Amino acid sequence: MKIAFIGSECYPFVKTGGLGDVMYALPRALTREGCETRVFLPLYQCIPGKYRENLTWKGSFMMDLTMDGNTYFVGIMETVMDGVIYDFIDNREFYDWGNPYTGLWEDIPKYCYLSKAALAALNYLEWVPDVIHCHDWQAALVPLYLRTRFYGTPVAQAKSVLTIHNLRFQGICGIQHLKYWSGLPDGLFDYPVLKHNEDEANMFKGGLAYADRITTVSATYAREIQTPDYGEGLDAHLRYHAGKLSGIVNGIDVDLWNSETDQLLAARYNADTVLEKKALNKRALQQSLGLEEDESKIVLGLVSRLTDQKGLDLVDAVLPQLIDGNTQVVVLGTGDPRYENAFRYYEGQFPGSVCAYISYNEGLAHQIYAGSDALLVPSLFEPCGLTQLIAMRYGAVPIVRETGGLKDTVLPYDDEQNAGNGFTFNWYDSGLLLKAINDAKTLYFNNRGRWDEMVRRNMQKDVSWEQSAQQYLELYKSLIR
Ligand code: ADP
Repeated sequence: MKIAFIGSECYPFVKTGGLGDVMYALPRALTREGCETRVFLPLYQCIPGKYRENLTWKGSFMMDLTMDGNTYFVGIMETVMDGVIYDFIDNREFYDWGNPYTGLWEDIPKYCYLSKAALAALNYLEWVPDVIHCHDWQAALVPLYLRTRFYGTPVAQAKSVLTIHNLRFQGICGIQHLKYWSGLPDGLFDYPVLKHNEDEANMFKGGLAYADRITTVSATYAREIQTPDYGEGLDAHLRYHAGKLSGIVNGIDVDLWNSETDQLLAARYNADTVLEKKALNKRALQQSLGLEEDESKIVLGLVSRLTDQKGLDLVDAVLPQLIDGNTQVVVLGTGDPRYENAFRYYEGQFPGSVCAYISYNEGLAHQIYAGSDALLVPSLFEPCGLTQLIAMRYGAVPIVRETGGLKDTVLPYDDEQNAGNGFTFNWYDSGLLLKAINDAKTLYFNNRGRWDEMVRRNMQKDVSWEQSAQQYLELYKSLIR
């Protein structure tokens, strides 16, 4: 089976969040299952030179794009890694100014161009996929181009799958702006498809209408987005298309996230050695962050973009109540200054007990997963969430809100059955978060044997991509039968 992936980011070339991880790990897992996979993404200027230098030129052509028929250069630069072919779409006008996302006004043209150029490149390369798997709003116009501008061309034989990684971002802009840059037929700018309201068009909405299948990254999020609370204004649209919507939970790359081989850790470990080695990692973390060095304290980690989505107002509300002489809190993240400043304030208030590391730091993230006893993920909404999966694999117990993928991947600790993976709470309420954390602390300090069993159970839980890749494969097969 031949699968083409189209999206705006892909680790290790360019990543700002979970989408980048999925675009890396899923094609690799499918390749291991015997699929031929190609990944299309823009050749952004921010892609490190070590990758740019090793690309092979596969050809170029001019492509018409806009409503008035302006044509644009499309270059195709290629590399192959572990059997996955990566085709970078090269156009300096769109991609030569640094970061992937620079503001919606400029991003709309960039991603209209990406969607159309990737399809044109498939025809140019004479590689017709069985399925084109598009990701988030940036690639949401692909299903529309496929059934209109590319009608009757070889690539139109392909089926399309559109995956929602985060419904909050939809690619909404003035109707005229999208009409001009997409060059899509007027008929699509109607209510059931691209029209958002009297003045605005919505790229995600159009893609969801035209895709052969819609997936999102957990079964719970697939249900939630059909409700007004989580639907970001598209709940009715998604209920209408519910027949083709399903949820498949993400995995993590277990080679990348492997505590036994992780060179970034002070001490490497597996489920047998975790108890002794986590203490060493904890001490190293405390030392490097200027926390009181004492392995008997419980360390609560938080690795996150600092945005409203992540439930940080709840953490802000309860943090002073957590500091009791036996508890330390380590925050790694950047984002909204409101949260950055709140965590900096607590670091000043509780020296030696709280560390706020306001930055993006891949290495420190690994050290926090390894050195923490528990990881906080109290999100307002969470399509899947990767940090709770990484935490489990590194023997840190997740404390999560029961929403989206957090609900599907973290079973609450059950005292009677001695089962479960972590501590959970349902309503978005700081008192409930505090209770969940206190329950975790109670088990940690009063029944360490049970806690340690949970740590080991979590490390042995299958959080790899294999099962999810199988489910995607079944979905693709159901489309081409
Ligand atoms: P989202 O995509 O909403 O940001 P996910 O949980 O799906 O959230 O993915 C977050 C990924 O980004 C994880 O791999 C996590 O370790 C990483 N990450 C988040 N913030 C930071 C940070 N400040 N430094 C390093 N890695 C981070």
